[in-house]
Amino acid sequence: MARKRIIIVGTSFAGYTAALELKELVGDNHDITVVANTDRFLFFPSLIWYPFGLRQEKDITFDVRPVYDAHGIGFVQAEVTGFEPDRSRVLIKNGDSIEYDYLLIGTGPKVDYDYFPGLRENSFSIVGLKAAERTRAGWVRFLADPGPVVIASAQGAACFGAAYEFLFNVRYQIAKNDLEKKASLTYVTAEPFAAHFGIGGFGNARQMCEWMFTHYHIAARYDSVIKEVIPGGIVLESGETLPSRFTMVMPRFLGVDAVRNTPGLGNANGFIEVDDGYQHARWRNIFAAGVAVHVKPPGATKVPCGVPKTGYPTEQMAKTAVRNIVAEIKGDGAPKVAAKFDDMSAYCIMDTGNMGMIIVGDHMLAPREHEFIIPGPEAHWAKVAFEKYFLWSRRHAHV
Ligand SMILES: Cc1cc2nc3c(=O)[nH]c(=O)nc-3n(C[C@H](O)[C@H](O)[C@H](O)COP(=O)(O)OP(=O)(O)OC[C@H]3O[C@@H](n4cnc5c(N)ncnc54)[C@H](O)[C@@H]3O)c2cc1C
Repeated sequence: MARKRIIIVGTSFAGYTAALELKELVGDNHDITVVANTDRFLFFPSLIWYPFGLRQEKDITFDVRPVYDAHGIGFVQAEVTGFEPDRSRVLIKNGDSIEYDYLLIGTGPKVDYDYFPGLRENSFSIVGLKAAERTRAGWVRFLADPGPVVIASAQGAACFGAAYEFLFNVRYQIAKNDLEKKASLTYVTAEPFAAHFGIGGFGNARQMCEWMFTHYHIAARYDSVIKEVIPGGIVLESGETLPSRFTMVMPRFLGVDAVRNTPGLGNANGFIEVDDGYQHARWRNIFAAGVAVHVKPPGATKVPCGVPKTGYPTEQMAKTAVRNIVAEIKGDGAPKVAAKFDDMSAYCIMDTGNMGMIIVGDHMLAPREHEFIIPGPEAHWAKVAFEKYFLWSRRHAHV
């Protein structure tokens, strides 16, 4: 069988998983190369703790190059600027291009900080290390001069779980620093109700969140559209202005520029529409996984909400895509593997600082036969333990 060149773009939950899984399946019979604009794997979930100085960069990242070297996987550190699907080429920033027989795109999101005025300058973010670093500096300033706090999930946002985790971690830090009298806390969200999460809710998470809002005196604004973030607060389209000394907004995500620059590859928002085998409809040698993939919201909401594409389903998408690449290479007519996003199991831990909720369900999207929310301090420790386990296993190439 002729050697095939398989290019994977991205080296995170989607790309890293895909590269190692593929290597396991095809061994040395084909060439696997990862192209990414970083040589680090970042464990995003830990960024909810980073602004409070609870984690350092070295604790939550690792260098992927020794792992790829040890497994005979090629690695090119480069910014991908676009694709030429008809010529099967990946375009990179220095003007070079890389040819492929099969391509898997795992480029995650572009964070849209230009969606409404003031978002970039007047609020903080936890999407990425650089953003979390700036948020950490902002938190230090806040502790010296505290006041009201607003945490928001903007219209079109999808990563609601992380916004809730940050909200509750801020609450915990406010209490630890004995600032409850000075620092009121408000959650502003595009969601129609608490713990909707962009997926219509999950078990009794709504009731639990509402109870926590009452218990911790957290005010909430649902169905909200943010008009502008100003230096001293947040202005809603309803006309209300909420004063704030520390504002964190979870912004909406788009597909990355490299996809948006390639006509026909992604939809209007730059997300790639694939079938349940994570294969592109038009270019059958292109696959995609993770946040780069378009997932249809399960139902309309008054204010647009995206669907969270979290770590577990991202890795399942990557593994499914890889199996189908192998099936294509073999060409023996074996049926393709399908793993519809809606039907994947849901596993998540929502941390609240010293407590949390373990979230388990048999389907990502409703209807579900089994859905459990297990609240308590053990959820916090389970998240910390999972962080350690995840980073250890990935550093040792277990995916
Ligand atoms: C603050 C936060 C907390 C979270 N907490 C949780 C949690 O508790 N549980 C959970 O399941 N999920 C969580 N998530 C979601 C989780 O991080 C995502 O599901 C996961 O990162 C998606 O992986 P991905 O590989 O699709 O994209 P990403 O992780 O975004 O990776 C994209 C990769 O592509 C590379 N890349 C991008 N553009 C280019 C380009 N042009 N050229 C070359 N390389 C490129 C990047 O460098 C990176 O390697 C959280 C997310 C955030 C932001």
